[in-house]
Amino acid sequence: MKAGSSAKPIASAPTATPPVAHTRRTTIAAVEEKYHAIRCDLEEQRRTILNEVVEGLTSSNSQETFPDVSDQASAEAEQRFSMRILEREQRLVKKIDEALARMDQSIYGICERCEEEIPYPRLKARPVTTLCIDCKTLEEQEEKSRR
Ligand SMILES: [Zn+2]
Repeated sequence: MKAGSSAKPIASAPTATPPVAHTRRTTIAAVEEKYHAIRCDLEEQRRTILNEVVEGLTSSNSQETFPDVSDQASAEAEQRFSMRILEREQRLVKKIDEALARMDQSIYGICERCEEEIPYPRLKARPVTTLCIDCKTLEEQEEKSRR
């Protein structure tokens, strides 16, 4: 029998190791804890989008044939419209997946341009962002000047 397994004969020994107060945790755990609420938000958002996508697909399939030509035209327009929404939602799901992957790699919340930490309120408001506000502003200015 290995030492330290299951029942300990020594009385009054605490079963779980008490949390060591005010010591530095490993960075990964700290990052994980810091962004836990955002991770929950992202996973919730992802579920909601995927449900909508599934619903959108089933409803557009059910109204495929229309006897009236104008109805069919509007149905096609509607379908194109919902396809655009689907595409946008798919892009967002991709961004969410990328954000979750960055969390797994503990690089979430780091600006891709200046490598500074992105302020938490910005992440909370826009969890899929990869740029801090300064760099985002710069990027938008660059895009404008390119046009
Ligand atoms: Zn930046």
